[in-house]
This record gives sequence, structure tokens and C-alpha cells, in this order.
Amino acid sequence: MPEYVFDWNKWVPKKVGFVAWRAEKERLPTRVALAERNVRIESDRCVICGDYAETSDHVFMSCQLAQTVWSIVSQWCKIPTFSAFCIQDVLSMHGGISGSQKRRNIVQAIVHVTIWSIWNTRNDAVFNSVYPSVPKIIEEVKHMSYLWVKSRSKDPLITWETWRCFEGF
Ligand SMILES: [Zn+2]
Repeated sequence: MPEYVFDWNKWVPKKVGFVAWRAEKERLPTRVALAERNVRIESDRCVICGDYAETSDHVFMSCQLAQTVWSIVSQWCKIPTFSAFCIQDVLSMHGGISGSQKRRNIVQAIVHVTIWSIWNTRNDAVFNSVYPSVPKIIEEVKHMSYLWVKSRSKDPLITWETWRCFEGF
């Protein structure tokens, strides 16, 4: 099997793509990753659901919160609901969707912003005891992806109206 090559998206800030890059390389400080580095942790359980060991694949893909977020994001982007259980699947998902290259780039940007937002939510839960909220993640994903893609692509067809309904591109 060829080695997976991380594909950066030009429409989101480097810091956002960097979270997805680290997630894919298992380089985020999840509880399992910390335990493997012999960092003392109280528990290796996922802070969001409490049921499973916190790996990147769990936090971003198989955790109930992530599943719900991906299902809402795929409905919004009018792509078939996918059941991916590893990050590489979701990072390469845009390649298989129908429509223009622009649409594929937009979906890729949204995937990176979603991963970034789930990680922010996880950090807020771990460090600030903030209860994770799906609507808050969805709102952040829609607004931040819009602001970043709009300003970087300079595409006049991208307006809040077209973005909100995911139409016209
Ligand atoms: Zn979980």
C-alpha cells in the first residue's frame, strides 16, 4: 500500500491544516499518545464520551460526538453520509465526490476546519471543563470555513447565503 501523503488545503490557515496533519500522523497529545510517551495521566479515557481510549481515530472519527458532527457536515455539504473510522479516510474523502474541483477543494477545507474545531472542543473539555456542544462545533465550522475560504479564494460566488445552503459552486 502506498504511503499516505498529506494534502494541504490552500484556503485554510496553516494552523488549521496543522491539526489535521498532526492527527493523521498520530502526533496530537491525546491521552493514549501521552501514555505512550510515558507521561503520567489519570486516565486514558476519551474526555468527551468517557467510554473509549482517547486516540486520534477515536476523537475525530468513532466518538459519538464526531459521528454526529460528520453526519451534520455531510448533510450540509450534500455529500452521502460516510462512515469512516480512520482519519485518512475522511482526509481523502473530497477526492471521491462529484462536481467541480472547486467543490472538492471547499469540502477538503471544511474537513480540515471540522477536525480543528473538534480538537478545540476536546481541549476546552480537558482544560476548561467546558461541556462539548455539537451545535457550537457546527456553528464554528460553518462560520470559520466561510471566513477563511471567502478571504483566501476571493471567489465572488461565495457569499454567506450560498455557503449556508452549500449551493452555487
Ligand atoms: Zn469519545
